Amino acid sequence: MKGERTRIGVPRALGYYEYHAVWEAFFGELGVDAVTSGPTTKRLVDLGVGAAIDEACLPVKVFYGHVRALMERDDLDFIFLPRLVSVERRSFICPKFMGIPDMIRVNLVPRVPLLDVCVDMSRGSGGLRRAAVEVGERLGAGKRQALGALKVACGLWREGMAASGKRRPQCQPRSARRGSDGTGTGNAPEEPALNLLTLGHAYNLDDPYTSLGLREHLKELGCEVWTVDDFPPASLEEAIAGLPRHLFWTSGRRILAAARHVAQHHCVDGIVHLVSFGCGPDSLVGEMVQRETLRRGGMPFLLLTIDEHSGEAGLLTRLEAFVDMIRRRRAAGAPGGRGLPA
Ligand code: SF4
Repeated sequence: MKGERTRIGVPRALGYYEYHAVWEAFFGELGVDAVTSGPTTKRLVDLGVGAAIDEACLPVKVFYGHVRALMERDDLDFIFLPRLVSVERRSFICPKFMGIPDMIRVNLVPRVPLLDVCVDMSRGSGGLRRAAVEVGERLGAGKRQALGALKVACGLWREGMAASGKRRPQCQPRSARRGSDGTGTGNAPEEPALNLLTLGHAYNLDDPYTSLGLREHLKELGCEVWTVDDFPPASLEEAIAGLPRHLFWTSGRRILAAARHVAQHHCVDGIVHLVSFGCGPDSLVGEMVQRETLRRGGMPFLLLTIDEHSGEAGLLTRLEAFVDMIRRRRAAGAPGGRGLPA
């Protein structure tokens, strides 16, 4: 070990945005310091692009960049690379999550030992307990201590959800956006606020660099911005219950459920869906979301595809045109979204 306390590097990418609170609490209970890589930057993306296969989607390339940044440090004992297979019954995470530790081993020469562990909860929470025990063993903790740490971490997660009323907190510091000077447009619109639902994977939407500051731009254009996390899980389940087949991608199910919910209840003025170029699940779910909005009266819908070459100026132009189009519809008498309950 490099110091008195074990230090474990956590890449700020992919599953980090959903689960870092649990991971950090778990490591803390085991007396291990979790060291997160910094915010995504152009340098990190370039590092990732240089190491990943060309066909990889942007989020995977970004993940490579964060791992490489952690490998440059000399104060870490491990780098945490969870192999997320499933986080709920009968549903799965994208296959690229499952292959991440293998891809990293093939494309990079790890200077720091990799702590990879398989998390498969497709048959229940036993998969999570097994993963906790395995990680605990690698970190020198006994089974009892590891399971105790997991219990505390999950308890804190549940408390956080109950206190906020949301599944997880949002974060979007504008200073980290691609090419942003942090000043924004400064044009406060005079028209009434529009309610827009932003859809996409958490690792795209919540990473200010990857998302090109999407939510901040919408707010600057006078929009109330909603996300999947603003809906109670029960409402989402109800919205998706009528599907003829079970959609087995966790993130895709939630995205489609939110789209169906707002389309059924007419509570937003439009939907902006951020997808990754080259993403198989996104290509299917994006099509289903689009059909859903058309079927329910043609709710305005904007599909934005991002990769490492996307620029903030192009995104802003498209958002301005989209918002302007919705305002013109409203001015012409089209009904507006009712907004989400407070
Ligand atoms: S779901 Fe799509 S964007 Fe996410 S890791 Fe898989 S391929 Fe990439």
